[in-house]
Amino acid sequence: MTAQIIDGKTAAAALRARVGTLAAQFLADTGRRPGLAVVLVGDDPASAVYVRSKGKATVAAGMESFEHRLPATASQSELIALVDRLNADDAVDGILVQLPLPMGLDADAVIQRIDPDKDVDGFHPMNAGRLATGLHGFVPCTPLGCLMLLRDRLGDLSGLDAVVIGRSNIVGKPMAALLTQASCTVTIAHSRTHNLPHHLARADIVVAAVGIPRFVHGGWIKPGATVIDVGINRTDDGLVGDVDFEGAASIAGAITPVPGGVGPMTIACLLRNTLVAAHRRAGLVLAADAI
Ligand code: NDP
Repeated sequence: MTAQIIDGKTAAAALRARVGTLAAQFLADTGRRPGLAVVLVGDDPASAVYVRSKGKATVAAGMESFEHRLPATASQSELIALVDRLNADDAVDGILVQLPLPMGLDADAVIQRIDPDKDVDGFHPMNAGRLATGLHGFVPCTPLGCLMLLRDRLGDLSGLDAVVIGRSNIVGKPMAALLTQASCTVTIAHSRTHNLPHHLARADIVVAAVGIPRFVHGGWIKPGATVIDVGINRTDDGLVGDVDFEGAASIAGAITPVPGGVGPMTIACLLRNTLVAAHRRAGLVLAADAI
């Protein structure tokens, strides 16, 4: 193996520590803690685990965690009414509705109901538009975490060739927008892309967000490239990413492992976005380089 392993756990712990320090300062300045409300509808076990770990991380960072549970039988209007209450609640700076929602509920309508200034997941079309046009908004946590890992590793990204595999609204598209903003030359690949290896052969940066175990062959990677594997796939061999880790690690310059790469950064970025939301709502300035 030649690649350096990009340690997302250590990077996430450092980010959480910075958030914790700034949350304590926020409490001293305003007399209240930043607050994150998480809404869980139904009893999907994986979603329940995510919600629990988000709540724990929120409290550990010195912030207020508000957990709201609705039964799987909840109606669209009950869920919308809860979002409205959270929008109006001054103690709540960030609102996250855990996806996927049970069948019959319209996730897009719920996301569009969240106050864009409390939309710490960055899924509201207003925040997608802000990202696309370079305005301050909230960037989805997973691509934001990927960008932080890339900057830690490479510093200035300008002029680098980047290929993002996947064009979902929560990972691929915002990732491509962030890399464009960072002055990379960006290619977005998807299921209709012809000859993916041809595109990857010149990619200094590869971000794989496909959802297919070990989809990206090691031999497709340009020697020395930085590979960010967003995939989380449960297989008989345990959790694996979208990249053939062993193959890619023998040719890349650096690569994120799964688990322990992008995953830990996602929750840390959620806390970061909540802290930013709290500052904006309180009219306080948070220096961009502090966080
Ligand atoms: P989606 O299923 O929404 O998107 C997958 C994308 O991959 C689509 O754009 C699809 O193209 C593309 N794709 C599918 N097949 C191919 C192919 N053969 N060649 C090239 N592209 C292809 O997934 P998400 O973006 O939500 O998630 C991607 C992965 O990241 C999943 O494994 C998920 O579990 C993981 N994930 C991890 C997170 C973390 O915290 N680490 C957070 C979020 C997701 P098309 O648009 O044409 O269908």
